[in-house]
This record gives sequence, C-alpha cells and structure tokens, in this order.
Amino acid sequence: MDLSHIRNFVIISHIDHGKSTLADRFLELTETVPKDKLRPQYLDSMALEREKGITIKMHPVRMIWRQPNHTEIPSSKHQSASWRTNKSQIQNSKSQTNNLGFSASDLGFQGSEYILNLIDTPGHIDFSYEISRALACVEGAILLVDATKGIQAQTLFNLAQAKNQNLKIIGAVNKIDSPQAQIPETKKELALILGQKQEEIFTISAKEGTNVEELLAALIDRVPPPKISTPKEAFKALIFDSRYDQFSGVIAFLRVFSGRIQKGDKIFLIQNSQEGEVKEVGYFSPNLKSCDVLEAGGIGYVKTGIKDASKVKVGDTVTSFKFQASSFKPKPLPGYKEPQLVVFLSLYPEDSDRFEDLKDGLQKLKLNDPALNFQPETKMVLGRGFRIGFLGSLHAEITIRRLKEEFDLELIATSPQVVFNILTRDESEIKVSSAALWPDPSNIKEIREPWAELEIISPQQYLEQVFKILRNFKSRNVETNFLTSQKFIVKAKAPLRKIITGNFYEKLKSATSGYASFSFRPTASEVADLVKMDVLVAGVIQEPFSRIVPQEDAFLEGKKMVKKLKEILPPQQFSLPLQAAVGGKIIARETVKAKRKDVTAPLYGGDFTRKKKLLEIQKKGKKELAQKAKIKIPSSVFLEMLRD
Ligand code: GDP
Ligand code: MG
Repeated sequence: MDLSHIRNFVIISHIDHGKSTLADRFLELTETVPKDKLRPQYLDSMALEREKGITIKMHPVRMIWRQPNHTEIPSSKHQSASWRTNKSQIQNSKSQTNNLGFSASDLGFQGSEYILNLIDTPGHIDFSYEISRALACVEGAILLVDATKGIQAQTLFNLAQAKNQNLKIIGAVNKIDSPQAQIPETKKELALILGQKQEEIFTISAKEGTNVEELLAALIDRVPPPKISTPKEAFKALIFDSRYDQFSGVIAFLRVFSGRIQKGDKIFLIQNSQEGEVKEVGYFSPNLKSCDVLEAGGIGYVKTGIKDASKVKVGDTVTSFKFQASSFKPKPLPGYKEPQLVVFLSLYPEDSDRFEDLKDGLQKLKLNDPALNFQPETKMVLGRGFRIGFLGSLHAEITIRRLKEEFDLELIATSPQVVFNILTRDESEIKVSSAALWPDPSNIKEIREPWAELEIISPQQYLEQVFKILRNFKSRNVETNFLTSQKFIVKAKAPLRKIITGNFYEKLKSATSGYASFSFRPTASEVADLVKMDVLVAGVIQEPFSRIVPQEDAFLEGKKMVKKLKEILPPQQFSLPLQAAVGGKIIARETVKAKRKDVTAPLYGGDFTRKKKLLEIQKKGKKELAQKAKIKIPSSVFLEMLRD
C-alpha cells in the first residue's frame, strides 16, 4: 500500500482518562473487531489488566479505514456535517457489499483505504517505559484529557515525551457525556499546554462515541504518513516489544523503517549479533495474524525462530543478513534509553528446586517487559534467587503476579529498597540495593541516598492537603505555580526511598479525593543518616525483613514491623517472640501467643492437680518444640509485609 495511506499513532493520557475506551470505538468504527465480540477496554487483554482495570502493556492493533475518494476530509476548522453524510455513504456501500458477501474492493471500490496502526498505552507512571517505546514507532499522538479531572501530572509527563519525539499531537477532551464534565475549562487547559487554538481541540465521549469519527478523520488529515529512511531497499526495523511462544520461539514486534521482510528471509539483530530465519510475518488484528510481507512504514511482528529469549533485545535493530554482509554496513536505529530503575527487591522460589524455572520465567518476561533487570543472588535462609530492579512498586507487584500467573511460580519477596551509595572508611565507594549487603556500621564513612524531583498537579482547594503530605514525606524546595486559574503545579524534592516505599501515590490520591496527581524523576543523591534494621522471629534474623531505615525512624519502624508481623503471622504450637534490632540492640518486641490445644478437656472439671500437671507437660513440650522448630513463614506473610 501507498505510504500516504498509512497512519501510525498512539493514544496517551493520564491513567483512567479513557484511552482504552477510545481504542474500543476505533475498533468498532473500522470493524476490526465484530460488535458482538467487543467488550469494554478490548485491548486490555491480559488477565491482570482486566482484573485491575488498568493497562499495563502497550497494545498495538492494525485497522483498515475505508473512505470514498470524493470525501473531503474535514480539517480542524470545520468538523463538518458533510463528513457525516459521507460516512453514511460509506456505511451504505459497506452494508450492501456485506449482504452480498463481497468486500467493497471486490466490487471495484473506488475510494481510498487507510491502514491505521494504533498503539494503546498504559497511563501509570511505573509503565512509562512502555509509552516511550511506543512513541518511537509512530508519527502522531492523541492526547486525551478527562473533562471531569482536567490536566493531570501524567498528561504533562506524556506530552513532554511525545513532543520530544516530534510527534503531531491532537488534543481531545473526553467524557463530555459525564454530568461532572467541565468542558470549556478543560478545553482551555488543553489548548494552553498544547500551544494550540481551542478550535483545534476535540470534545468527545469515548464511551458513547460522540465525535469519535471526526477525531479519526482529523487524525488522517493532520498526522503525516511515515517517512522511509535511506537506503530505501535495505530492511531495517526497530524491535519495540516481543514475547515468547512455546512453539515458535521469540516473536519480535517491529516498526519497519525501510525495506521489506517476508517468510524465509534471513535476518540479523545488530546489537546482539544474532542471526535468525523468518518463520512468519504478520500484523496485529489485535491477535497475531499472518500476512505475506511487512513493508516500510508498517508495524507488525516477525517470528524469528530464535529459541533463546536472552538473544533478543527490545530496542535492537533488525536488518537483513544480506544487507549486514554487504559493504554497506547498516547503522543501528537510535533504539531506547535504558530505563532508570528506582527500586530493588529479591525474589526466591518458595520451592528452592525451582530456581531454574524462575530464571527461565524472568528471561521470558523480560522479552515482554524490557525494563526488568535481574542478577542471581544467594541467601542463607532462602537459597538461590534473583535481585531485581523495577520502575516502581506497582511494577514490582505486577511482575510478581505475572510470574505466578504466567509461569506458575510461588515466590518469596524481600522488602523493596532503593540504591544507596556508601563511602567506606578505606575510601572505596559501593552501591548497596539490599539490606543484606549493608556493610558493618564501623566501616561506613558516609551514606548517600537518591532523591526524586516531584511534580504535583492539584486543584486549589486541595493545596493544603498536598503541602501536608509533602511535609510528612520530608520534602524540600517546594515551589508552587499557577497552571491555570484554579490549578496549581507544585514542584518539590524528597528522598526517593520515601516516595517509593511510603505509598506516596496512594496517600496523595486519598487525601485529595483523587484530584491531585504526581510524577517524579530520580535526581542527584544526598547525604543520609541510615541504619540497617533486622527482624528476628524466635531469635533468628529473617533476612527478607531486614531494611534500611533512617536512624531517627528506626524505633517507630521497628515497632510497626513487629506489630504488623504479629497480626499476620499464623499462630504456632508454641509462643513466638518477634523482635526488631539495630546493630544487635533490640528496639521493639512482640509475642505471638501459642495456639493452645485444650489438653485438659477430657477431665471434665475433675482433679485439679492432674489438670495442672497436664498443662505443665504441655508447656514443657512446647518449649522443646520451640527450641527445635524451624519456623516456616508462608510466602503470603512476606508479600503482606512488603505491602507496607
Ligand atoms: P485508560 O486508563 O486511559 O485506558 O482509561 P479506560 O479506557 O480504561 O477508562 C477508564 C474509565 O473511564 C472506565 O471506567 C471507562 O468506562 C470510563 N470512560 C472512558 N471514556 C468515557 C467517556 O467518554 N465517558 C464516561 N462517562 N466514562 C468514560
Ligand atoms: Mg487503558
């Protein structure tokens, strides 16, 4: 197909502003998914996405849009009634042909067909790496803003990323059907941040479909078709995502920048110097659908035939083996920046024999989630596992759930930790991301910890609450500016550790009825006064519970931890002391009472001395039991403790 008839675009917005719902309307309009199959947020196909009601992965889909030649595409200035008429003509011609069992083109359809490659993206900040990868594959973006909420932090964050990629951006105010919608205000805000006229902004209801066709028509009008990089004939494509298939090995999701590719072609992955032979090419319907050839400007997938998941890297450039071998060595495409990991924790299989399964699971998951980064690690109590870096605590939680659901792995997780820089007495600098690797206090000269730059957007009436939370999170350099007449943008700095592990996001949301939102980026580290706190169960240090805490908070944190542990630890046959300690000094203690079986029950209130005697025996037995027993802490307890 002629390049001028291809449009590649993403939908971006703050979380819950309606991206996946708008994608539903596009799928419906283009008849990509039959109406009776279309369930809400159709593209959120992962079980976990449906359960949580959020998009976690980007989802590409190819749609065909038919438009008669004589149709004048409405430009931004007149979202015209004529477009509506033309649209009904198309529908007429479609329904006629459908009745006859022919497609419009079989009957000599005179109009133009457009291939629309859409990538739906997640909105949560922990998945921003997904968005940045999608942005590199497209020429345009629809930026949605919920009319009941207005501009929120991720609106600005995602807009900045899209601008960076020089994308054509179309603004749309969504949820205009809602009684709480503030349409003129939101339109004004959106026009302001886009630097566009208010007339250029669309007002839509993704739920009811209002003005959605007009938006699609404007997209074709305003977003430029893909450009082909030179040399034109040589195959070059960017891997923006991938997944593992048990039968066909690694399936790479590609944006093709030049040349073409088909079954049987020999390919070469530049970064990894890896060869492969194409088993199948195809596009997203949104399920994988094979086709004959993938061409420049398009988005699709390639079954690489490569079985080793570690050989395929998202961000790598795929070229043809022929081209690679020619004198004209292809340069790799820009690829992707490595994501900045902010939180680390360790995962151990509950069944220690399943270390290899965990390794395999992580490697396969990385194909689909390239932000994951892991190193093998060994811990006495837990055996062999992995130290893993994440983009945030939701990212960690989702990963643990995916490993369980997609790879059937029951895991034990340690508490999340940021990376500290420690200067030792002998002037060497070490990076510590795990309490287990914390050096002996006598060997520490200086500790530095990472900070984060926060950007919070809040309506005026919630500013007080925002400031209060910022104080609780020990933030500094608070700077407040008008965004619009009722909205403020608050910039501040706070220790990353507190933001990540202190549930900043949830606390901000609940204090402001969901009206304030925030984004953050890691920034330079600062000196900190931190200590390692251990938790002992029956006198034994439980390494997974150890954490790094500020000296001044150690006492309270210790108390909080043993108290929580007491609540969730199932009672044993004997009573169980729980302690928190810093540098060998106990700072808090609790006791889990023993489950008491009534050994005196058969005595029916009889002889008191016998009763006492029996109880004595029981007590002694328990003491012996406690000394001998290894306490088995269920993994659910570790996970629960992780949840703050
Ligand atoms: P996403 O996170 O941006 O993908 O948002 P979703 O598409 O998952 O939608 C979030 C919520 O907003 C869902 O409950 C949708 O039903 C709702 N929603 C989306 N579009 C509209 C709309 O136009 N009007 C109303 N009233 N609700 C909408
Ligand atoms: Mg979504």
